[in-house]
Amino acid sequence: MTDSCIFCRIAKGEIPAGKVYEDDEIVVFRDIHPAAPVHLLMIPREHIENLMTAGSQHETLLGRMIALAPRLAREQGATDGFRIVINNGPDGGQEVYHLHVHVLGGPRPWKRF
Ligand code: 5GP
Ligand code: ZN
Repeated sequence: MTDSCIFCRIAKGEIPAGKVYEDDEIVVFRDIHPAAPVHLLMIPREHIENLMTAGSQHETLLGRMIALAPRLAREQGATDGFRIVINNGPDGGQEVYHLHVHVLGGPRPWKRF
């Protein structure tokens, strides 16, 4: 699975991405098609498809990701607030099946979201 997953490959450094943060559990990079002046994607290194397949063992990791968002948003230029979005499954509009948190910010208007 992870060989064919684009976000696993970004996490491993096999595909270049505009990384702005990484630690032993989390990688954050710029969305290739930004929908706002600041548009980051936060992913776990572990391949989890989405919140529907995440389990209680991921609660701490998910909490860390959410708690990291304000700092990275501000550092990247979203100084006046931001939005986080997690798309889950077909009806949630998910395109890449590796859990990711969109962090959107910067002066409005934005293209979508
Ligand atoms: P989803 O619809 O699954 O929530 O969003 C997937 C996001 O990943 C989209 O906003 C898309 O622009 C972004 N994306 C897809 N492939 C790549 C890639 O190879 N590199 C980067 N940086 N972003 C990507
Ligand atoms: Zn993956």
